[in-house]
Amino acid sequence: MDELKKYYLESGISEKVYDYCAKIEEKLKDRYDKIDKIAEYNQIKVQQAMAKCRLAEEHLKGTTGYGYNDSGRDTLEKIYAEVFHTEDALVRQQITCGTHALTIALAGNLRPGDEMLSIAGPVYDTLQGVIGVREEKGSLAEYGITYDQVDLLPDGSWDFDGIKNAIKENTRLIEIQRSKGYDTRPSLSVEAIGEAIKYIREIEAERGYKNKIIIMVDNCYGEFVETIEPSDVGADMVVGSLIKNIGGGMAPIGGYICGTHECIENAAARLITPGIKKEVGASLGVTAQFAQGLFMAPTVTAAALKGAIFAANVYEGLGFKAIPDSNEDRYDIIEAVTLGSPELIEAFCEGIQSAAPVDSYVKPVPWAMPGYDCDVIMAAGAFVSGASIELSADAPIKEPYAVYFQGGLTYPHAKFGIMMSLQKIVDKNSSIW
Ligand SMILES: *Cc1c(COP(=O)(O)O)cnc(C)c1O
Repeated sequence: MDELKKYYLESGISEKVYDYCAKIEEKLKDRYDKIDKIAEYNQIKVQQAMAKCRLAEEHLKGTTGYGYNDSGRDTLEKIYAEVFHTEDALVRQQITCGTHALTIALAGNLRPGDEMLSIAGPVYDTLQGVIGVREEKGSLAEYGITYDQVDLLPDGSWDFDGIKNAIKENTRLIEIQRSKGYDTRPSLSVEAIGEAIKYIREIEAERGYKNKIIIMVDNCYGEFVETIEPSDVGADMVVGSLIKNIGGGMAPIGGYICGTHECIENAAARLITPGIKKEVGASLGVTAQFAQGLFMAPTVTAAALKGAIFAANVYEGLGFKAIPDSNEDRYDIIEAVTLGSPELIEAFCEGIQSAAPVDSYVKPVPWAMPGYDCDVIMAAGAFVSGASIELSADAPIKEPYAVYFQGGLTYPHAKFGIMMSLQKIVDKNSSIW
């Protein structure tokens, strides 16, 4: 028995699980190679952006108080704009999470009487309350902003006719959510997003609307999965969280919005104040972590992607439904596995948790998490609380009992976590073999 295998067995993995997983991994080498090439491309893209913006040691120190003339913060925002090929960027730790970044982008750019349209079906759970689909105090609906939605067709493609019919004179902003989030629809490729944007621009031109429609992409979980980003195919704004892909596991908090000058100015007016906009916002020393995280993000995203592919193959091989399936191309780092029962979901999450670097001794249990309409179980033993670029799993406790798995700062850790999840499932129900 080789040393590595022996060590896995000492670490709680049974021989059967080990051998099964080793066989699965063996056939994934070519796919892992392709992912590494994308990481290589994006690594150079980030380095080139940092070089072009002349990132310097002095930028990494940070400011306090108002944070006027925070050259590190301003340089990092230039680097983000360079990476996404946009005019401007807002990258701040005062943006507390992804939902917050999206809320600022929406509320900053929409005015009473405007309509927001989602063309990839329902938006992310927490945004439902922001928009006012689910009633909440302070929602966009309370400010007289209406919402409409076009679902993807059953095969996951655009409903072009539906989009054409839904676009109206007062459609001011169209949201496209790149990742499926807590849904079982497929995630969208940047190419597919580009097709929709082209189509929207054609409709606009045909109808001669006075105001250009702002196209905003919820980019959460999508960054660096491909070599291009939605802003490369015409999106006016891309928005995301720094404790997902793009923070590279180093950012302790934060969100970003990259886009046109006007979109960013509007968003900054909402995050800070009209008038002050991007001028204040002390970085408090986090710029070093933001910058280093961005630098790490391409390879961290690659590790997470390999983990997701590994999980899909491991679980599909045992007859569970995996989305994306074992062979599909990937457009985000999320893997959904339908386990079919609360018991198996809990076992899966216990496995992920026990393989964590932090809080490995904790047993995750379902709870009523704010912003969600049912109990949710989360497994995460992360250095940054709740960071889903770190190995983590979450599942809403409702039909079809699918667990959403994501992250892994390194591939060996993602792999070990998935093997541990399978181990716990097997321990609970050996009949799955
Ligand atoms: C995570 C996520 C969000 C919200 O981000 P939070 O940081 O959890 O608020 C929004 N949209 C998508 C697609 C996401 O994956």
